[in-house]
Amino acid sequence: MKLKELLNYLPEDEHVYITGHVHPDGDCLGAALGLYQVLNKYRKTTVVLEERPESYKYLSGFSAINNYEEIKTKLDEIYKTKYSLIVMDSGDISRIDPVKEMFNQATRTINIDHHESNNNYGDYNYVDAKASSTCEMIGVLIGLLENDFTELTKEIAECLYTGIVYDTGVFRHSNTRKQTHKIAAYLVDEDIDFTWIINKMYHARSVTSVKAMKYALDNLKLVNEDKIVITVITNEVLEKDGLIKSDTESVVSFLNEIEGPIVSAFFLETVKGQFKVSFRANSFMNVCRVAKKFGGGGHIKASGCTVTGTREEVIDMVLKELDLEYKRNN
Ligand code: 5GP
Ligand code: MN
Repeated sequence: MKLKELLNYLPEDEHVYITGHVHPDGDCLGAALGLYQVLNKYRKTTVVLEERPESYKYLSGFSAINNYEEIKTKLDEIYKTKYSLIVMDSGDISRIDPVKEMFNQATRTINIDHHESNNNYGDYNYVDAKASSTCEMIGVLIGLLENDFTELTKEIAECLYTGIVYDTGVFRHSNTRKQTHKIAAYLVDEDIDFTWIINKMYHARSVTSVKAMKYALDNLKLVNEDKIVITVITNEVLEKDGLIKSDTESVVSFLNEIEGPIVSAFFLETVKGQFKVSFRANSFMNVCRVAKKFGGGGHIKASGCTVTGTREEVIDMVLKELDLEYKRNN
């Protein structure tokens, strides 16, 4: 999809809301804020996300984000109007569950995403499972591959670069393609401080995130003849040490760097009896298929789901499915 098509699809007199998945990450924030800055010139546009994660406050447009608490107070008025809702970086609408009613009541919905598991839930779907990130797709949308830089500003470049770097693990994951580098090169041409962005995202750790990592490594286990590496952080530990979910963000990718195992799974008990499971695979395993068994999804090599039960029950259920997936390939 190109910007012109998107604008043709969005009536001039209707408000456009941009949202993304719960616990917005670098790609979700970068894409939402990047597109916001483009669209805001043509349509009245508002970004709605669950929260404003402090570590991304350098992104232009950050302070204009409406969090769920703020939008809740305006919903009755919004429902009286005609509006379009653009959902970004979300494989299915359960990923925007807290604002699902906003989706249901929208005059038109647009789904912009790169997840393998995307089920084309929008009225208009711009889905590219080969794209490294939603941010790469926004780069395509504004015409960078046709050498059209009219929409690009330094601020937008910082947003899109942040998302590309986040979802590719700094151009390292197999979702990185020639086009990813090309788009990144055009963004770098806007004179962005890419060293600062990469360092901020990947080489700066809070004390609490180091505590979370220590706990995760202390509890690491190799199972299934050392083919699977798992670890868990319980809700009790989170509360005792004052850790938050974002402190645990780099745990699963760290596990995946261990040589030997082919898949890693990180179990984070976000609320008592409810585990957010993150999977990373470094070979032929399709962890998206495993996540889907539990109502989740994602990409072939990086996916997630939420599973309810005790620590033992959840780990047992997930390991069984991982084992089945392993056997499918052997
Ligand atoms: P993470 O484990 O880092 O939270 O997520 C890895 C990938 O899987 C991300 O692309 C994310 O969007 C996707 N993902 C994580 N949890 C879920 C989930 O519960 N449902 C779906 N559909 N995708 C998820
Ligand atoms: Mn993404």
